[in-house]
Amino acid sequence: MKVLVAGAGLGGLCLAHGLLRAGVDVRVHEREDGPDSRYQGFRIALNAHGLAALHACLPERLHALLAAVSGPMAGERLVVDQRLREVRRLGVADEGTAVDRHVLRQLLLAGLGDRVEFGRPVTGYTERADGTVEAHLGDGGGAVGDLLVGADGVGSAVRRQLLPGARVVTLPGSAVLGRTPLTERFAALVPGFGTVVQGTGARGTRVSMLLGRMEFRRPPRLAAAELAPDVRLPDTGSYLRWVVMPAEPLPAGPRNWEAVRADLLDLLDGWHPDLVDLVHRADVVNSAPLSARYAEPVPHWAGSRRVTLLGDAIHTMPPSGGQGANSALRDAALLARTLTAVQRGRAELPDAVGRYERRMLEYGFAAVADSVRRLPDFTPAR
Ligand SMILES: Cc1cc2nc3c(=O)[nH]c(=O)nc-3n(C[C@H](O)[C@H](O)[C@H](O)COP(=O)(O)OP(=O)(O)OC[C@H]3O[C@@H](n4cnc5c(N)ncnc54)[C@H](O)[C@@H]3O)c2cc1C
Repeated sequence: MKVLVAGAGLGGLCLAHGLLRAGVDVRVHEREDGPDSRYQGFRIALNAHGLAALHACLPERLHALLAAVSGPMAGERLVVDQRLREVRRLGVADEGTAVDRHVLRQLLLAGLGDRVEFGRPVTGYTERADGTVEAHLGDGGGAVGDLLVGADGVGSAVRRQLLPGARVVTLPGSAVLGRTPLTERFAALVPGFGTVVQGTGARGTRVSMLLGRMEFRRPPRLAAAELAPDVRLPDTGSYLRWVVMPAEPLPAGPRNWEAVRADLLDLLDGWHPDLVDLVHRADVVNSAPLSARYAEPVPHWAGSRRVTLLGDAIHTMPPSGGQGANSALRDAALLARTLTAVQRGRAELPDAVGRYERRMLEYGFAAVADSVRRLPDFTPAR
């Protein structure tokens, strides 16, 4: 069996590992020109589903490296005001593990070699009379396999063709994501799982600022050199991840980081100096405006079982629930397990894919609904 995957993101790469473990031939086609071509370095909170999926799919020799480059994430979720006075507590979360998306993606690329083809976006597909599927690639080429998996994220080209009626809603408002190298002073802002600052900015605008700590147990590059010398991990230091969300949108249009930062500093004028300094000292390459989106639920579709979807390509959700990556990884592990049964002659491909889709749609859209329900905990009242 040959599986084509559109998208070398977290879900697509995790699936590729799971399939290789089962001896399935897999090729991943990625739109970006290389693994470093886009801003990707924010912190992700892995839950039990995400971790179990990574352990099920990644070769065992990489598990110790994954643990070494993860960070602790447990404790109270605090709400404070702009002078850092405690307002309320959202409850203890104790099952989190922090990972950096860019580091995790590099780790997931380990051992895949030329099975991942960069600079080759999937633009669409054709189902062929012999039961195979051809993925059309942006450079005019094509690839043929038994199954095409759209793991190509929120703007999925595969979903657009498979489910042209599926809708992705962009949430109103604007947000800016940043990260700032971790110092003792900044680490104290997040004593537990995470901290939400709710305050009032310039001109009376209500503002939320979310803070999360990414503290690597071991520096990723060094950990790789010791634990898996063939794996190249970036030289990323620990940082504090923050998201500023004002109730009134910031100026729109393309703006460079200097201009965005000036708007933020104006907005946060008079806030506690530790919070203002976080913005001042942000890492330029890894800070940018952000928009939150969610997918409207879709029923299980009739027809093709030669093309399927996973992760943000089908059930994208706002980061408020911390479940997007976890759901994408869970999909990858479930699909890998399902296809392993097909590879071993214990199931037929169309039935197996249909079963995967029914389960994935159920928990995936439950996670979307939960994340949308949790938005008010994080967004400022207007
Ligand atoms: C600020 C922020 C914080 C977050 N925090 C968390 C968190 O704490 N916990 C959590 O679980 N989730 C979190 N998420 C969500 C999480 O990052 C996503 O849900 C997750 O990355 C989705 O994985 P994916 O593999 O489906 O898609 P992606 O990781 O987006 O990968 C899609 C890949 O497909 C490629 N691609 C796109 N189009 C094509 C094409 N036509 N052909 C080929 N390739 C293509 C893209 O370049 C990309 O590499 C957060 C997201 C943000 C923005």
